[in-house]
Amino acid sequence: MTARTAAQASTSPPTVREGAGYRGRVRDADVSRHAAGRLGPGQRVAALRRLREQRFDVLVIGGGVTGAGAALDAASRGLSVALVEARDLAAGTSSRSSKLIHGGLRYLEQAELGLVHEALTERNLLARRLAPHLVRPVPILVPLPAGPLPVRAARRAYYGAGVALYDAFAGLTGGARGMPAHRHLSRAAARRMFPSLRSDALAGAIRYFDGQVDDARLVVTLARTAASLGAAVVPSARVVGFLRRSRQVTGAVVRDLESGVEIEVAARTVIGATGVWSDDLTAMLRSAPGGTAGPVPRSGGPAAPAVRSGAAAGLVVRSGLRVRASKGVHLVVPRAAITGEAGLILRTATSVLFVLPWGGHWIIGTTDTDWSLDRAHPAASAHDIGYLLAEVNQVLDRRLTTADIEGVYAGLRPLLAGEDDATSALSREHAVVEPMLGLFLVAGGKLTTYRVMAADVVDRAVRRLDQGLDPGPSRAAGRSTPRRSVTSQLPLLGADGYGAMWRDRAGLARRYGVAVGVAEHLLERYGTLAAEVLRLAASAPEYAGPVTGAPEYLAAEIAYAARAEGALHLDDVLARRTRISIETPHRGEDSVRHAAALMAAELGWSPATVEREVAHYLARVAAERESQRMPDDRTADAARLGAPDVRGRATPARPA
Ligand SMILES: Cc1cc2nc3c(=O)[nH]c(=O)nc-3n(C[C@H](O)[C@H](O)[C@H](O)COP(=O)(O)OP(=O)(O)OC[C@H]3O[C@@H](n4cnc5c(N)ncnc54)[C@H](O)[C@@H]3O)c2cc1C
Repeated sequence: MTARTAAQASTSPPTVREGAGYRGRVRDADVSRHAAGRLGPGQRVAALRRLREQRFDVLVIGGGVTGAGAALDAASRGLSVALVEARDLAAGTSSRSSKLIHGGLRYLEQAELGLVHEALTERNLLARRLAPHLVRPVPILVPLPAGPLPVRAARRAYYGAGVALYDAFAGLTGGARGMPAHRHLSRAAARRMFPSLRSDALAGAIRYFDGQVDDARLVVTLARTAASLGAAVVPSARVVGFLRRSRQVTGAVVRDLESGVEIEVAARTVIGATGVWSDDLTAMLRSAPGGTAGPVPRSGGPAAPAVRSGAAAGLVVRSGLRVRASKGVHLVVPRAAITGEAGLILRTATSVLFVLPWGGHWIIGTTDTDWSLDRAHPAASAHDIGYLLAEVNQVLDRRLTTADIEGVYAGLRPLLAGEDDATSALSREHAVVEPMLGLFLVAGGKLTTYRVMAADVVDRAVRRLDQGLDPGPSRAAGRSTPRRSVTSQLPLLGADGYGAMWRDRAGLARRYGVAVGVAEHLLERYGTLAAEVLRLAASAPEYAGPVTGAPEYLAAEIAYAARAEGALHLDDVLARRTRISIETPHRGEDSVRHAAALMAAELGWSPATVEREVAHYLARVAAERESQRMPDDRTADAARLGAPDVRGRATPARPA
């Protein structure tokens, strides 16, 4: 905590202020920023109405870190923005990462110096200014294996130079690095810091720091911050086609998966940020002819006579960008299973393996294998789990077994596999393409560099808007759009005032009658918005207690997720707003009834809806457990598909 507090103390004040930069632009001036950033059921109804009635400057498809970041970037430039997400915010890759905000120590070895430098710049910005409440330093050891003295000395020199360069890069990026500096440790010191490391194989270690974040909470916070600046944010809303006028994309057909109603959303530019689903958007452009869409009345500009995508049959569309999926599996084990005060980075035959402290748990990962099966629910097989256990057991003094495992999760890396040499060279970078006028696809990159990706794609969209024939809502009101991104100066919701609130956490706990540990837990998840959760907890006894089966979470957090964080289903609160599904051996089964009761009160669920939600969640857990017993990807995938998605059951319908 000391390092973080020091970093916060030196955080420079943001230079972009709501009153100066954003006043009266897109957000209703009568609504406070915090209120506008509350993603509850009422806001969803209002946002859906806006999708029907408004013509947006930018429609963003995909509520992962890239899409949420792009929505925030565009909204903070004063553009009118809509963000639609097919499932839940962060339901794709962005809730399934190693949760590091990092430069990528291993990329130094591959001489990807520019990438490392860029990512470290972002790390520092996030940890110091944008999200100090969400990104915190995590110490990581590079263990140095035993061996003859010259070999040991050479290894220490090699890894020491790498870590020193890493720190130097971070230090060069505008002042202090936002993380403590690295340190060399003797064999004895390494053992003291990580008693579970096998002593016979250890010659010493180097300790360095990177940032750690709850990836799903980062995404929700980005989306809420975008909403606080006027963006219409709608989860459970899948794009099923594009609207086009000639060779220009003029919007998208969005299906509200909660009602089945389809809406034609008019937009002057569309940004596709759909990660491993990127190729689906290109395919949609080429898809079979759909019905003709008539003019739709729009508040923000002239009606756009449009046709649904593919109406010009046989259209050849080359996106210039193809994304391939690579599966990465993580295990979660209890903190007590391994004794250590830092994480580990271990070399494997093809990559690296992290063992990272995560609250009362450790996260161990990851694998890296091609995946061409179901992308919504990538499944971890017994083979993946066995591989991870074998790798980590090489350095631990007590072998971990499957009995130690609390949770398992799998995610898909969106790796660029370019259609031509220009993009295939970018496999570790990101790319922005415009396959059709007004439609931009952005993919690749990593969690850490979401802001850079967002700025790049919005820059392109702004250039296209500048070339547009009609002025659009923002320009018609006589506003100019900032040419450059302002997000490097824009703290996310919960960041402003966080340092002071953290320092006064004992007082906060006293005022709300909770333990200091509870106040800390909430501050680290919500920043200054923790006060909203504490107020809710204090408002009624049913919110004040812990969640059944998950004592580290307050019941108020489940209710708050539905009231303010866009959660619509049990999956959303048990797998992403909280991490109960991977942090408990029961994987949420013991908590599901309690969570359902809390959600029902917020979302007005009938008893039948409660039963359906509970049954779905239990089926999901059973299918995941089953898949993890299967020997390979194919059988694991088949087992996981035994539990269908809770979303999208409503029959597709057009609005009356
Ligand atoms: C195992 C693993 C570990 C990783 N570890 C790290 C790490 O430690 N640090 C780091 O910086 N990066 C890490 N990454 C990379 C990082 O997680 C990803 O680069 C990032 O999350 C990708 O975000 P995204 O928004 O592009 O994609 P996603 O998060 O997948 O978001 C795309 C969204 O689009 C939605 N969507 C798709 N189709 C439609 C449609 N038709 N209509 C509406 N919405 C749609 C999906 O539902 C999804 O939510 C890791 C990745 C993996 C797989």
